[in-house]
Amino acid sequence: MLQIENLVHRYDDASHPQLAVPEFALEKGQHAVLAGPSGSGKSTLLHLLAGILTPQGGRLSIGGTDLTQLSASSADQWRSRTIGFLPQKLALIPSLTVRENILVAAYAGNHKHDTARADALLGKLGMQDRVHAKPHQLSHGQRQRVALARALFQRPLLLLADEPTASLDDIAAHDAITLLRTQAEENGSSLIISTHDARVLHAMPDAKTLRLAAPFSTQGL
Ligand code: ADP
Ligand code: MG
Repeated sequence: MLQIENLVHRYDDASHPQLAVPEFALEKGQHAVLAGPSGSGKSTLLHLLAGILTPQGGRLSIGGTDLTQLSASSADQWRSRTIGFLPQKLALIPSLTVRENILVAAYAGNHKHDTARADALLGKLGMQDRVHAKPHQLSHGQRQRVALARALFQRPLLLLADEPTASLDDIAAHDAITLLRTQAEENGSSLIISTHDARVLHAMPDAKTLRLAAPFSTQGL
């Protein structure tokens, strides 16, 4: 499902590569933890996997699509069909309700305005009573669930979660990981969680680990 070979990325204004991944692969439905300290390139790699950034070198293919060959507009279409992204800063739109936040993402991705699907996902996440609430009326955990529902809306092949346990206490962190795993599985998605939190590694014993070492190099473990 996912293959990486000799992947290299350097931001335009940087003198050295921020990220190098010699080799990594994931089968459909398999999960991974992307581990490494702050600044090691976790978010950069997630943005490469989502087709938001284009790698300078190497091979990156997801679901049979070679991401090094996609134009920006085909990458947008590919992403909306294939990738669910749970960003670290959840990026909900403050003026929209919970349900509208999910539907607007579906609209941007050319998916049909499927209110029943949005509400069913929110129900699974225990948010059925909050569909008309605005993000500021919710707790952090509830906002994270809305962003997760948004990411899962089109049943992505790959669900990417950037540091989902940052600033959560032990119980909330455990709940967040359990929710990500069960929801990825129910929606047929592989899950990649980036983290510098040892609790995530403990909660994902079956996941493959890709460890990024600060500052610029990586070794798969
Ligand atoms: P992590 O998510 O593991 O904390 P990042 O992927 O955010 O790491 O960053 C990896 C390195 O790339 C850091 O040195 C960071 O400063 C640099 N970096 C991140 N984003 C940009 C950018 N847009 N332009 C230039 N450098 C960046
Ligand atoms: Mg990051």
